[in-house]
Amino acid sequence: MNPARDIELVISNRTGLHARPAREFVNVARRFQSEVRVHHGARRANGKSLAALLTLGVRSGGAIRIEVEGADGEAALQALAAAVTAGLGEAGDAAMPTAAAAPVAVAVELTGVVLAVSDGDRRLLRGVSAAPGLALGPIHQLRVVAAPVGEVTGDPEDECRRLDTARAIARDQLAAARRGLVERGAADQAAILDVQIDLLDDPELAAAVRQDISAGAGAARAWSGALVARAAALAGLTDDVLAGRAADFTDLADRVVRALAGGAAGDALPDHPVIVVAPDLSPSQTSAFDAGRVLGICTASGGPTSHAAILARALGLPSVVGAGPDVLSWPEGAVIALDGTTGAVLRDPAPAEADRVRDAQAARAARRDVDRRSAAAPAVTLDGHRIEVAANVASVDEARRAAAAGAEGVGLLRTEMLFLDRATAPDEDEQRALYAAIASALGGLPVIVRTLDIGGDKPVPYLAQPAEANPFLGVRGLRLCLERPELLRCQLRAILRAAGAGRLRIMLPMVADVGELRAARAVLAELSGPALEVGIMIEVPSAAILADALAPEVDFFSIGSNDLTQYTLAMDRTHPALAARADGLHPAVLRLIAMTVAAAHAHGKWVGVCGELAADPAAVPILVGLGVDELSVNVPAVPAVKAQIRALSFAQARELAVRVLGLATAGEVRKAIPP
Ligand code: PEP
Ligand code: MG
Repeated sequence: MNPARDIELVISNRTGLHARPAREFVNVARRFQSEVRVHHGARRANGKSLAALLTLGVRSGGAIRIEVEGADGEAALQALAAAVTAGLGEAGDAAMPTAAAAPVAVAVELTGVVLAVSDGDRRLLRGVSAAPGLALGPIHQLRVVAAPVGEVTGDPEDECRRLDTARAIARDQLAAARRGLVERGAADQAAILDVQIDLLDDPELAAAVRQDISAGAGAARAWSGALVARAAALAGLTDDVLAGRAADFTDLADRVVRALAGGAAGDALPDHPVIVVAPDLSPSQTSAFDAGRVLGICTASGGPTSHAAILARALGLPSVVGAGPDVLSWPEGAVIALDGTTGAVLRDPAPAEADRVRDAQAARAARRDVDRRSAAAPAVTLDGHRIEVAANVASVDEARRAAAAGAEGVGLLRTEMLFLDRATAPDEDEQRALYAAIASALGGLPVIVRTLDIGGDKPVPYLAQPAEANPFLGVRGLRLCLERPELLRCQLRAILRAAGAGRLRIMLPMVADVGELRAARAVLAELSGPALEVGIMIEVPSAAILADALAPEVDFFSIGSNDLTQYTLAMDRTHPALAARADGLHPAVLRLIAMTVAAAHAHGKWVGVCGELAADPAAVPILVGLGVDELSVNVPAVPAVKAQIRALSFAQARELAVRVLGLATAGEVRKAIPP
């Protein structure tokens, strides 16, 4: 007798128990003989069925109860709990453009400066930005013709055999599409197709289909009925990411039914380059698009978190989703201009407008080339003021790319990323090896290693932090490390041991006052090793206000504008409805930056900015004008930020900075910035 046993856990994956983590769960569950059931609220699912798990609709932070029954139940439970705690194979989701990250300045590129189209123009549709870039060309209305659903043939055995053959064809097609993605450098996104490949053999789907066929249905009707029912269940979920997975099911239904009917996969595209317009797109359709023939994508529905949108970004295809049904009535071949950065789509641009879009495309491409070619040169303003441009990184690979992109060092190494997707903390040796590898990737350029900033939106389940009502205002960053000094001690020892591999500096996050700084320095002082520079992040308003008290006790400051903005404006940095207003160019934030720079310089210390603001083209002249000494930005932005600084006059930037400090809102600041 093997009694059922269970465990309750919380799903902490950013987008909940969506396709990829659910797939990982199923893979672990299938290693055991025991039955695995997953409960979420009143719902229950077979833990070995991806189709069933997805329809539970578990969101990030949602509780599940895993119940196992069988001889190897205890081992299964332990393995599943460890897998869930370790994040079910997710090392952080594919980077999604947040509303805040979509630069407002680009919004004018299509609709303002380039085309001067007003919102009232009926040729203009506004959708949601899904993949950046400009596209101009004729549209191809891609209609997914429902594959014919075959009638009953009479013999259930024959129907099952036909279905097996069709599933094998579908498996081959998906595997080929997957290989194509890997060859085009989109290995992460190729994993999306793995979900469909797994669904082909899902035991619960197979059982439902067999039951229907035994009851007299034909293979096509049974298969598409089972998948469409699950797609409908998913589409009904309130979680947008999980609801977006419905397309995976309908796509797979269609593919197998086509194979049953002897049809080819995919939809033929014209032989000239087009912008694909469709009601929505499936991942496999998108992955089959060839950048030579598809200039861009516009869908009537869909969301920026759909797998199709993720793939479009990976393939570099400018894309707009959610443009509304009107786009579906635009005639085949009509020329449109599409701005994947702003979500704007313009039909029938006049010849002069089309020329301007082409010019803008050419200018963007040329600008990127020029920026890349001069990326190794320093960033010195026209009047001789030098700004260091460094990169924010979280891995050895990113550090290598940073060096190749012309970064003059690493301004922020987010070490907590090493702690997030695993079951236990990395030990001192593992940390030392990583810090040393990053230091040597930078070949002697400085690397600022930020000590752990766990908490807030970066919880680490194995640290068993108690639930907090407001994690951003809770035990986060340095506060957590001071509560658990063994974590900090281990990390500092690893940094000190890695120091010989390059030029490491230490930076403490979330410092609120000098007491915390001294407490952390006391931990460092107990350890033996080289004397490394120690700086702090200025990201809590109290630290900016007290910068004159902190400056004498540090070697440098680095402003974390992401947190400084959220704490100054009382706007959660992850809140979608506040994203557009949580603007680091708010004069209140700028005044705190000005205070920080003044205090640091008065004590002969330098100041960097490593929040997202540092890469915002609108913010660069203001930050330079405020006297910031270093900007640390995401790796792809390094060449452009350097180039922008080289075109600035420091004297004019200072005048601008003084002017905007006297303004009242972020909107006023943005308006005051010269184009
Ligand atoms: C910041 O807050 O601006 C920052 C750089 O740190 P993080 O985004 O990791 O909180
Ligand atoms: Mg921060």
